[in-house]
This record gives sequence, structure tokens and C-alpha cells, in this order.
Amino acid sequence: MKTILDLTKEELEEIVKPSFRAKQIYHWIYQKYAETFEDMKNIPKSIKEELAKEYIVNPLETVKIEVSSDGSKKYLFRLHDGYTMESVLLPMKKKKIDEEGNIIHETKFSICVSSQVGCKIGCAFCLTAKEGFKRNLTAGEILAQVIYIKKDNDIAQNRSVNIVYMGMGEPLDNMANVVKAVKMFKDPDGLAIGARRQTISTSGLSAQIEKLGKMDLGILLAISLHAVDDELREKLMPINKAYNIESVINAVRNFPIDARKRVMFEYLVMKDLNDDQTSAKKLVKLLHGIKAKVNLIYFNPYPGSPFKRPTEKDMMGFKDYLNNHGVLCTIRQSKGLDISAACGQLKEKTDNDMA
Ligand code: SAH
Ligand code: SF4
Repeated sequence: MKTILDLTKEELEEIVKPSFRAKQIYHWIYQKYAETFEDMKNIPKSIKEELAKEYIVNPLETVKIEVSSDGSKKYLFRLHDGYTMESVLLPMKKKKIDEEGNIIHETKFSICVSSQVGCKIGCAFCLTAKEGFKRNLTAGEILAQVIYIKKDNDIAQNRSVNIVYMGMGEPLDNMANVVKAVKMFKDPDGLAIGARRQTISTSGLSAQIEKLGKMDLGILLAISLHAVDDELREKLMPINKAYNIESVINAVRNFPIDARKRVMFEYLVMKDLNDDQTSAKKLVKLLHGIKAKVNLIYFNPYPGSPFKRPTEKDMMGFKDYLNNHGVLCTIRQSKGLDISAACGQLKEKTDNDMA
């Protein structure tokens, strides 16, 4: 069964006549978060029945929700063909000073979405990789993650959220559907989430980064770098054999980025592997001349994982080296460490629980 969420406003207008009915349906989906055609009260039964022959509205069934003490929430969803994938809601408290000088707390939301069931890239440290690749998600299945997480958390329809394509899968290996989703998220009659609120994270498919850059969508880019020399990166990420570090850096240099923004480099820190000062030094050199921001991530161990979490001291040492040498660097707060933080981990756990 296909989901109606796969259709853009224009595509919907082509199949639903008169076109004001298409607009009403669009409104039901994106403003009122209707999950079935029956929910769409002012739409004639004949139109609904016709659509229901071919489409469903909400393509996701919620299998499990894990809530972490820091407020992040991990969702495990089942798709119509039985496959499962996950998304995470990450609330971030921000302090703001109002006009009278009072400190006010404001919560911003990011939603981490999956782009595929499984992944072909096969990174050594990643749980998603272990189950292999099942299939691409459609644009509608990507949109659905955001719509129904917003609904489940009473996040008002007009409240914009940030989207990070950092869940399961490699977004640039599912370029057509991901680009369609980016554009559909932007629609002012839909969720109205601008491109600058959307970050695509990639393991570094240089050719696809170049292609994406030429589309000039205005999105933000995150590169999962994780290593500073090809030898180690190849071991961690087999994709490095096809696209080495130099090709990734070159693709980033060609990528159009808003003058006020930076390219994010994710660096997964693993004990005794890439947590030393020599690596930090090489990283500074590598990023020379790029408006970059490095995000250090503590490796999150899972049962049987061959890598270890770095010490806090080495992590801080790495961060300080970068910051002292002109590279903006932060450590990702391990949101939801007490749930099942890294991608693929909730799914793994549930599969085991069910076995
Ligand atoms: N495929 C894309 C996006 C999804 S992976 C990419 O690789 O960029 C999202 C992030 O989760 C990546 O930066 C990845 O390195 C990280 N990740 C994977 N396994 C992890 C683990 N065990 N602990 C912490 N982060 C992990
Ligand atoms: Fe795929 Fe990203 Fe996991 Fe690598 S880290 S296997 S690219 S999801």
C-alpha cells in the first residue's frame, strides 16, 4: 500500500478534482495531522473511497517508544511491509534574554529521521549496518516520522522543528526520495520547515555530495568523518575505498553553504583508535580553510561491539586541541544514553526482546 504522503501538493491536485478538495485534504494531513481518510470530515465519501483504494494516510505503526531522563524520545515504527525503523525526538532547552533582560527558557525540537531500512555502507561501529540493507524509505515515509512525532508530542502545527537525517540509513544512497522529502518539508502549506532547518548527514559519498550541492537546496551538510587517515577510515567505513578523505573534503569545498552557517564534521571517538592528539592535529590540518564545526561523539558501546568509549580526559583533550587551533568543536551531549542512544540500537533491542 502506498501512502498519500508520497504526493506533493501539485501531485495531489492532479489526482483529486476539483482542486480545492486536494487543498482540503492537504490541510487535513499537514495541519490537522489526520491519520486516515475517515478522519477528513468535510471531504465527500466518494473521493475518500476512491483514494482509499490506492492509498493509506499514516504509513507508520508505533511499535515502541522509549523516553530518556533528558527528555529525548526514541520511536520504533513498523512500516506496511513489516520492516521496522526508528526516529528520535530531541528537545533542546535554550536560554534566551527577552527585551526586559529576563532570562527565558525556550525548548527547541530536533527530529532525527531514518532514510532507509538498514544500510549498505557497512560501517564497522554501526548497529544499523549489521542487519544489512532492506529498502529505501519513500518521501512520504520520511515525512510521516516528523508529522506523527509532532502529533504525539502536541507540538503545534505552526511550530517549526529541525530535521536531521541521522537515523538509520545513508540519505545520499536514497537521494531521489530524500531530496523530494526536503522539498516537501519546505512547503509553506505543509510543515513549512525551511531548508536551513534540515541537515543531511552522510558517510561521504563524494559524487552524491557534488550532485546535491549543484541542486542548491539550501540545506545543511554533516559529514561523518570519524578518522583522519585513509588507512583507519577504510577499516571503519568501507565507503572510504570508493571515496577517500581527500575526495570528501573536495566535495565539501564545492558545496554551497549559507554564509552564516558551517559544515558539520561528525567525529565518533573510539578509545585508543582515534582519540589521540596526533589525530586532533591532523584534523585541524585537514579542515584548513573550511568553515567547519566539529562535533565529537562518544562511541556508544553495544553488546559485542569491538570498540570502546573514550575517556572523558581524552575527549576533552581532543576538543581543547581543536578549539585552541581555530577549529570550532563541541562534544555531542549523549542524549538518551540511558535509552538506546545510537542509531539502530532500539531496533536491535526490540528484535532481541521479541526473539
Ligand atoms: N548514514 C549517515 C547518517 C546516519 S548515521 C551517516 O553515517 O552519516 C548517524 C550517526 O550515528 C553517524 O555519525 C554515525 O557515525 C553515528 N553512529 C553510528 N553508530 C554509533 C555508535 N555505536 N555510537 C555513537 N554514534 C554512532
Ligand atoms: Fe550506514 Fe551511517 Fe551506519 Fe555507516 S554510520 S552503516 S553510513 S547508517
